[in-house]
Amino acid sequence: MEHSRANEDLMLERRARLAAERLLDQKQAELTAANRKLSAHALNLSGQIVDQRRVVEELEGQNTRVVKDLVAANHKVVAVERLLWDAIDTIHDGFALFDASRNLIAANPPYLAAFEGAGDVGPGTNFSEILDLCIDEGIVDLRDQGADDWYEMMLARWSNSKIEPITLRFWNGIYVKMVDRRTSDGGVVSLVLNITDSILKEGELRDARDKAQAADRAKSAFLAKMSHELRTPMNGVVGMADLLLESPLDEEGTLYAQTIRNSGEALLEIINDVLDFSKIEAEKILLKPAPFDLERLVQDVGLIVDPTVTQKGLDFQIDYDQFLPAEFVGDAGRIRQVLTNLVGNAVKFTDEGYVLVRVVGVVNDAEQNCQLHITVEDSGLGIDEDMIEHIFGEFNQIEDEANRKYEGTGLGLSISHKLVEQMGGEVWISSVKGEGACFGFKITLPLVAEADMGSAVLPAGIHRALVIEPNAMDLDILTRQMEFLGLTFAALPNVDAATKDIDPDIVFVGLQRELGDGGGAIETLRSLFGDTPIVAMTTPAIPVKLPSGIATLSKPFKREDLFSSITEAASFAPKAPELRQLRLLAAEDNKTNQLVFRKMLKTLTLDLTLVENGIEAVHAFKNGEFDMVFTDISMPEMDGMEASARIREIEEERGANPIPIIAMTAHAMDGDEERIKQSGIGHYLTKPLKKDQIHAMIKELSPEDTDPFQE
Ligand code: ADP
Repeated sequence: MEHSRANEDLMLERRARLAAERLLDQKQAELTAANRKLSAHALNLSGQIVDQRRVVEELEGQNTRVVKDLVAANHKVVAVERLLWDAIDTIHDGFALFDASRNLIAANPPYLAAFEGAGDVGPGTNFSEILDLCIDEGIVDLRDQGADDWYEMMLARWSNSKIEPITLRFWNGIYVKMVDRRTSDGGVVSLVLNITDSILKEGELRDARDKAQAADRAKSAFLAKMSHELRTPMNGVVGMADLLLESPLDEEGTLYAQTIRNSGEALLEIINDVLDFSKIEAEKILLKPAPFDLERLVQDVGLIVDPTVTQKGLDFQIDYDQFLPAEFVGDAGRIRQVLTNLVGNAVKFTDEGYVLVRVVGVVNDAEQNCQLHITVEDSGLGIDEDMIEHIFGEFNQIEDEANRKYEGTGLGLSISHKLVEQMGGEVWISSVKGEGACFGFKITLPLVAEADMGSAVLPAGIHRALVIEPNAMDLDILTRQMEFLGLTFAALPNVDAATKDIDPDIVFVGLQRELGDGGGAIETLRSLFGDTPIVAMTTPAIPVKLPSGIATLSKPFKREDLFSSITEAASFAPKAPELRQLRLLAAEDNKTNQLVFRKMLKTLTLDLTLVENGIEAVHAFKNGEFDMVFTDISMPEMDGMEASARIREIEEERGANPIPIIAMTAHAMDGDEERIKQSGIGHYLTKPLKKDQIHAMIKELSPEDTDPFQE
């Protein structure tokens, strides 16, 4: 027993030991596994640490580089800034930079020098304080401006986005020009330039010019006085020579006296030119603007040169723009002087061919003025291009073979030029040597309200003109004037070309110099066109004998003259028999149709009796006299057909001729037509009525001694 217990104990112990050993083994295995895990984790961690350290090292490197670059850049900025300021410091002009609140950021010594001893100006000083200083310390000469005004003006100047330069005078006589620019951040860069030298030079120049002008004026005033003094005795010379010529003189005496008078007149002209010229120079010519008739003025200038034009056998033309008014406000005397000079020169320097004065213009309705272009064209000597400047100078003429034979002072163009300039205009010239010259001037003159020629009413029955004119330029001008008056025309070069079938309402015939006696031409026209009104166009220098009953139109002429010549010619024509009014009876019940009918006849001259039905129509016809009846067909009480039949009966009773009866019907009346015709209605119109058809019907059926279409 004992033994078995002991055995049992031993076994228990062995079992326990074995269990303990197994546990130990298990724990050991667990420990090993845990150890392995731990070491793997440690390995991983140390790897991460290595990586991070590498990143840190890299960043450190970069940082060092950036810091280094920054330092270098800073050095550069400082160096450049120093350089910039060194440069700004070396310039003599003032330079300053202000921020958007007008506080001074920096300024160079010349800028600051202006305030030396007056107050502290430096970075941070506001521009308004600088202005205060300028005023309080008298740094800037404000001239006549009040301190407050000046202050306000200077501040206001800076509030503009674009700042205009300004010139200031300092207390010490220095002139500066402030040129300011706005910077992108709203500040201002201010440059103050010393312009004292140029201002002083300018002043000196101005003084010199004033002195020269004063001397010039004194010279001109002297000339003006002298020419005036010269005129008085010259008038005596010319006047006395005139009187002498009227006294009985022998041939030799007459020649002497004529020579004295002609030379005296030539001298007077020169004196007049000199007087004008010196007056302009002495600024003594005052323009006296007043309303005047430019078209008439141009004609007058034509008359002045007419004797020479005729003597030389030149063609003198005036082309005055048809759409241009004739009246303007200006100094007519001076404009005439300029034009006389240009036209006089053109006639003087042209031995054959033409002289054409052309007036065109652009009316400015808003300004109530007109820019006029007046040109004088000739087919004479012409002027070399390089002489053009020269001839506008005083006493300048072209000295060559061709020019030598012409007299003159060489003052005319110079005076004209100055006068036109004084009127605010311009003079120009274009010329081809040997082919002619064209002088022009441009002036703007205020308009005068005038009667509108466009609305002038031509005598009745004058619509178509025959123009016989060999001169192309004359013809061109005349036909344009006719178009303006609303005439149509046929043109022929001479009377022989005219034939009966032209059938004009009026004939214009240019009696040319070679025609001499106009009677023959007129006779031919009379034989062709009977009593048709004739206007003979003549030239004042050549008197032509004309049979009576012919209107004359003296070339050159104004539109007004053309118009009155037509009226005059028409008044000579034998009167047509007195016309009477057409008497028209119309029956229509519908009020609207009555109105329409009335409206359609509105433009015609006739005596209309409008009734409402057939009974009234018959009644009216019985008690009145009519030339024509228009009647509706279906009307209350008595229709149109019955009324027409009654009218025909009355006519028969009276033994009168049947008058035209025109039916106005709404039906397209196939079957009715017969019935209508039977009732004595001769014509019909279908509704809706057309004005043209009614007019055509009236025209066709009106008696001879009526003209409902007359104006
Ligand atoms: P004047 O006619 O008295 O000589 P102007 O000053 O009027 O003086 O003209 C100056 C010069 O210009 C004339 O002498 C002439 O040589 C030239 N000239 C002017 N007009 C014409 C023209 N239409 N054709 C050719 N030459 C002209």
